[in-house]
Amino acid sequence: MTDIKTICVQGGYHPENGEPRQIPIVQSTTFKYDTSEQMGKLFSLEETGYFYTRLQNPTNDAVAARIAELEGGAAAMLTSSGQAANFFAVFNIAGAGDHVVASSAIYGGTYNLLAHTMKRMGLECTFVAPNATREELDAAFKPNTKCVFGETIANPALAVLDIQTFAEAAHDHGVPLIVDNTFATPINCRPFEWGADIVTHSTTKYMDGHASCVGGAIVDSGDFDWDAHADKFPGLTTPDETYHGVIYTKQFGQAGAFITKATSQLMRDLGSIQAPQHAYYLNLGLESLALRMKQHCANAQAVAEHLQTHPKVAWVRYCGLPGDENYELAQKYLPNGSCGVISFGVAGGRKGAETFMAHLKMCQIETHVADSRTCVLHPANATHQQMNDEELVACGITPDMIRLSCGIEAAEDIIADIDQALDAVE
Ligand SMILES: *Cc1c(COP(=O)(O)O)cnc(C)c1O
Repeated sequence: MTDIKTICVQGGYHPENGEPRQIPIVQSTTFKYDTSEQMGKLFSLEETGYFYTRLQNPTNDAVAARIAELEGGAAAMLTSSGQAANFFAVFNIAGAGDHVVASSAIYGGTYNLLAHTMKRMGLECTFVAPNATREELDAAFKPNTKCVFGETIANPALAVLDIQTFAEAAHDHGVPLIVDNTFATPINCRPFEWGADIVTHSTTKYMDGHASCVGGAIVDSGDFDWDAHADKFPGLTTPDETYHGVIYTKQFGQAGAFITKATSQLMRDLGSIQAPQHAYYLNLGLESLALRMKQHCANAQAVAEHLQTHPKVAWVRYCGLPGDENYELAQKYLPNGSCGVISFGVAGGRKGAETFMAHLKMCQIETHVADSRTCVLHPANATHQQMNDEELVACGITPDMIRLSCGIEAAEDIIADIDQALDAVE
């Protein structure tokens, strides 16, 4: 099974004779065993099996397996949110006294996680540009660097990560590259094919796609050789005393070590499991992911091209537009489309943007992106409200900026709504 459209509907779940065609929701916190010995073997990781839903649940496993197939990875797990996925992915291999190199163009929540919350846990982070040169990247590494982190398409900056350059730098320094592939989805980019080692998702966005469930996922390519850099990753290559001295790379192999450790250690101790019911909804989203991404991208392209010629629009940012500063990187990594999110500036600055927002009818004001319905936000008045105009510009948000997440409606209807709202702008 190779084509991604097929994996969207067939991947991960293969029922036996007489079993449900659709992934069943195993709505149970626990699982029954005949003998205490059998249960004991599960706890000592001698045998695999379900015993408690915080650690594993058949519904979650089937959906995780589908996401692993979509990304072309070896193993995957679901988490309760994208934030939990990114935290677990980094914390699984980096802790107090360690260092991380990260792209500066990342989701605000992930920036806070790396720059502030994980700093309080003793972890330092150095930020670099998403298109950093090899020299700039090399300069960011330290002897205690444990991973490199970036987003395929940054939310909300819409910068495209130079995945190949980041992966080569990471590998030359003996550490893996973690890529948050939320905005591109595996339909438009499979970071493993460019050298990334771990992929994360906020499944809340396009994968769910219907604004119904917050969720996350972590996928391991299985290609990073932890044992070759054993001194850097003792958590994977030396005995885990909290699990009877198991050595993850020995017992579960290069392809199973990362996800098994994140499940049996981090999920055990920190929680953050996705509810099986949410996994089921997520799976329904995955089934139409390829179809929806095509429409999201076609709409965003049409809207971006229209806005570019509109007299009431000061600027447009979309990596699918020739001339956009991310166009070349997008052509390389996202040749079939990027995502449905664009940003643009309304003529007349903050006042123009406020007038535009006030006159939209179909496009609705939401703190969200990647919904099947078009949604829109004026960051200067919402997520970045506490900043004055100078502070806004310093973090790449201008007072006139509108973030528009194109849904899967007809492009003409999105454009018509935008045009009538722009008509009201002086
Ligand atoms: C939304 C988002 C997150 C956070 O995900 P939640 O599911 O909201 O916790 C992380 N990374 C990116 C790129 C996002 O867009």
